[in-house]
Amino acid sequence: MRLPLHLRSLRLVLYAYVPYAYVPYEADEIPVTIYFTHMNLKLQIDSARLEQHLIELAQIGARTDGGVCRLAFSDADLEGRAYVEDVLSEAGLEIRIDPVGNLFAILRGTSTLPAIMIGSHTDTVATGGRYDGALGVLAAVECALRIKESGWVPNRSIVVASFVNEEGVRFMPDMMGSLYHSGQISLDAVAAATDLNGVSIGQELTRLQGYAGTETLEDIDVGYFLELHIEQGPVLEDEDLDIGVVTGVQGLSWTEVTVHGASNHAGTTPMERRRDAGLVSGELMSNLRQLPNEIEGLRLTIGSVTYHPNLINVIASKVQFTVDIRHPDSARLQDAEARVKRLLTEQSVCQITCKSLARVEPCTFSEQVVSAVQNASDTSGYSSKQMISGAGHDAQILNSKFRSGMIFIPSRGGISHNIEEYSSLKQVVAGANVLLGAVQHLTEK
Ligand SMILES: [Zn+2]
Repeated sequence: MRLPLHLRSLRLVLYAYVPYAYVPYEADEIPVTIYFTHMNLKLQIDSARLEQHLIELAQIGARTDGGVCRLAFSDADLEGRAYVEDVLSEAGLEIRIDPVGNLFAILRGTSTLPAIMIGSHTDTVATGGRYDGALGVLAAVECALRIKESGWVPNRSIVVASFVNEEGVRFMPDMMGSLYHSGQISLDAVAAATDLNGVSIGQELTRLQGYAGTETLEDIDVGYFLELHIEQGPVLEDEDLDIGVVTGVQGLSWTEVTVHGASNHAGTTPMERRRDAGLVSGELMSNLRQLPNEIEGLRLTIGSVTYHPNLINVIASKVQFTVDIRHPDSARLQDAEARVKRLLTEQSVCQITCKSLARVEPCTFSEQVVSAVQNASDTSGYSSKQMISGAGHDAQILNSKFRSGMIFIPSRGGISHNIEEYSSLKQVVAGANVLLGAVQHLTEK
């Protein structure tokens, strides 16, 4: 098909003045919508550069088994953030570090319309891979670099963000950086959080020179937040899809349960006279496991158990275990919490105390952002489906403050939080291009 003359000449003008623009030579064969979204030039990310950045960041905190360990508020965590900061500041973006160490880089737009924030996190679990979090930050970096070098100045400012302590493995709660940024946790509460060795974040912020900054983003009106992430589940791979258009995140409730018994000799104490915290906790865990059979869609995990004194010939005096429950529906999550409580109080052998460690309501993402992601995916010809995220993410926290959304790409075998975590370069590039496309859509909203 021949393009109308005015479009052909426009194409030539763009090619001449925007040297990095993606304008294939044999353009006459391709519908003109390939090049433009809402009258903007359709940009494509630089896949080789994105791949290089992923490789380089994975070398920071690299484990000998091929995995990555950048626990929050560690030396490797700071080094990882500094790497991202260097790339952004070399590209001429305005860098800001806030008092908990969140990194923001600003690419100024032509208007004062609310800005679009894109990003994720660079901390990892102890046995992490190279994609969880890092992909979202480096794809956001790539979008900003690509927009800047194309010469296109969007009408909205773009803010690249990397939030601290998303994983929450060393210091709780998780998603701490986005909680702080959205005003849901104070600086004092962040500083007071301690790890298992009794080291506080406040101490680490003093030790790690340059980790904490003094800047804020208060003068920038942010309207949107968009995060690219690996799915961390098997759905996209099983259905052979390129993109997950995420419509929301299921809520979660974390409880620490302590079963108080009495320590005594394993050989001399008759069974009927025991207050065995070990045995009681085992029964409780087994009963809790039945809850997902009663509440459809409920996910329940007992991921941590600690026995005291943890000796083979001593009846346990105390057992602590955690209960992680998740559901996309708020009412059902509350129902599950009530049933957990009932199950824990049903027995009378041991006293039980419960402590809530974290609670996040299910979230529904902005229709505007979801449709921008869907559009960007469709325009690029990717296969996609709309889905709920099973894992918690910064976007879910920021949804309370900004119109938010997420993009998923497939995770091989549905594996994450594992050194085996993998997504192919093709999948990574698809996700990053959808991120860039969605940003272009949102600039016109
Ligand atoms: Zn993550």
